[in-house]
Amino acid sequence: MTSTIEPAAPALPTLTRAAVLHGAGDLRTTDLDVPTLGPTDVLIQVAAVGVCGSDMHYYAHGRNGTNVLRQPTVLGHEAAGTVIAAGAAADVAVGTAVAVEPAVGCGTCPTCREGNYNVCLTGTCFGSPPTHGVMTQYLRVPARAVHPLPDSIDPVSGSMIEPLAVAVWAVQRAQVGLGHRVLVTGAGPIGLLVAQVAKAAGAAEVVVTDINDDRLAVAAELGATGISNTATASLPETPVYDRVLDCTGVPGVVWAAIRTVRPHGRVTVVGQAAPTVDGLPLGYLQRYEIDLVTAFRYAHAFPAAIALAATGIIDINRIITGRFPLDQAAQAVQAPVTDPRHLKVLVLPQS
Ligand SMILES: [Zn+2]
Ligand SMILES: [Zn+2]
Repeated sequence: MTSTIEPAAPALPTLTRAAVLHGAGDLRTTDLDVPTLGPTDVLIQVAAVGVCGSDMHYYAHGRNGTNVLRQPTVLGHEAAGTVIAAGAAADVAVGTAVAVEPAVGCGTCPTCREGNYNVCLTGTCFGSPPTHGVMTQYLRVPARAVHPLPDSIDPVSGSMIEPLAVAVWAVQRAQVGLGHRVLVTGAGPIGLLVAQVAKAAGAAEVVVTDINDDRLAVAAELGATGISNTATASLPETPVYDRVLDCTGVPGVVWAAIRTVRPHGRVTVVGQAAPTVDGLPLGYLQRYEIDLVTAFRYAHAFPAAIALAATGIIDINRIITGRFPLDQAAQAVQAPVTDPRHLKVLVLPQS
């Protein structure tokens, strides 16, 4: 006789602990209800969340650029974990390890339909108030926002895929090509990833600048062909680089770097820029037909980021310098400020 009794599905969690930002300097760990899954949603048990510069801005100032925190919001946008439940129409199997793409656009406007969902006019991003972020034990997201991870990337390291996608997109926007001489300004987590991706894209020379010698040492370890501490050394006086990727967002750094670019070269602003700046050497750009372009988040970059990390072409783990349990999220977002030797700090919501 065959039994018709099915084994009971494991009960899903109903509460999730989350790091909720209430105001500048006020990050609290709180239990929230796990949201109901829609047919195209998945529920993720979050393994790790990377702390980004934007999280540090929200924590320190209650704002990031022009976006202001006006209501309690879960922090964070760099997550990976394991799918533990999926809606009936979600094409992701339970048990799949995934990286989460935090901003996938509205999906229906002309910009999204052209494929440029990163610059959708109405799109939201996890962790950009008022949209809740990912620093939580259990996270509901649309299935279209997750990207499966191969076995060679564990879900904790998988939280590095989001910043790596930023770097992949930046190098694509920069049009780095075979044999290029590339200058990367800023050796924070993004600069260190950009330098590696630029090399993977065929750059013959990748010089990284910063004012922090510890960071520059990591850049050299990760394959930069040259490093320069711009607190003590100046940039070349003659135009030598084909491409500059600015990962500082500091206007003076960008303007100085522009003058190192060869005629018909290209400068890409990757670091978060101030709303308006003075001093742009516009005449110089025009005189030598140097292109000045920008990069914002990424579009279609997660698959390449995953492939580059999976094969080891890009070292994501060397950039991780700290791991904190969820109830120490406030310490985690301050760690890179209090100890400048930190690069990427992770929050582990399951610990
Ligand atoms: Zn980020
Ligand atoms: Zn859209």
